[in-house]
Amino acid sequence: MPYKDPAKRRESAIESGRRYRLSHPDRVRASARAWVEANRDRKLASTRAWRAANLYHARAMDRAWYVAHRDYKRVKDRARYVANRDLALAASRARHAVNRDRQNAASRAWYAANPERARASSRAWKAAHPERARERNHAWHVAHPEQVRTLIHAWKAAHPERFRALTRAWQVAHPDYPRAYYLSNRERIRERNRAWAAAHPDLVCEISSLRRARKKSNGPHERISRSNVWIRDRGYCQDCGTFLEYDSGWHLDHWIPLKRGGTHVMANVRVLCPPCNLSKNARMPMGPFRLGFTDTGTRPLSAAIPANETSHSTKVEVPR
Ligand SMILES: [Zn+2]
Repeated sequence: MPYKDPAKRRESAIESGRRYRLSHPDRVRASARAWVEANRDRKLASTRAWRAANLYHARAMDRAWYVAHRDYKRVKDRARYVANRDLALAASRARHAVNRDRQNAASRAWYAANPERARASSRAWKAAHPERARERNHAWHVAHPEQVRTLIHAWKAAHPERFRALTRAWQVAHPDYPRAYYLSNRERIRERNRAWAAAHPDLVCEISSLRRARKKSNGPHERISRSNVWIRDRGYCQDCGTFLEYDSGWHLDHWIPLKRGGTHVMANVRVLCPPCNLSKNARMPMGPFRLGFTDTGTRPLSAAIPANETSHSTKVEVPR
């Protein structure tokens, strides 16, 4: 029985609509869903318009929904990520390219604030992806040579015993490496050796004298620096007392000749002038080692020796 008054008629219609919705919720929901299905674009547009007009409210609703459906949301996100992994990764990379500095700063801050968790998650990832971890590690090493060197130095300094042990183990496992390295870098090594020999004539002399001594007689021998012998003997021939300039070609004499079992040590060598040495030959000396000529004087002997010909092999002891 419709009302005559239009206002009353409207009120009654609203009231009966409310009653219908209350008593048939399933039918209402189904017809709403059908309408949305049929008018998806209009629904989306109106939702978007509402969100734009009520942004603060919309975000609060989002948050409330997220809190209430956290697990459901996580599972769903995970599934979507797995199904669209390449797309998701590309999107993530694109976002990172745009916000690189901001994201890096945020990561660093998180790592600094959660060192334990960061280490644990890094370890877990490495354990789960050993191949990729190795690849990444290698790429980082190639890209940061300076940092790698610094880190290695620090580690060596902190663990000298372990470093020695590692080196030894490696050498035992690669016995052929030195030879192979030499063969594949022969020219470079020879060039470097030649340059070193040209820069250190006195050291070359020291080493080859020692090698000759080892061939001629059984030791004990030591590396002897010609400059140390010359300073000890103050530049004098120990037989005739002639003063010999350091670079004049004086002879290093063995008091007991090597051929007769003498040793190449400071206590068996002395400065001789070439004539004295050549006339001595390999005769045995009379009595124990002694120096014939030294002065206690003021001659600045070390100034006569070029800087690159000083050696650290033997400490010089100048007799008083
Ligand atoms: Zn002499």
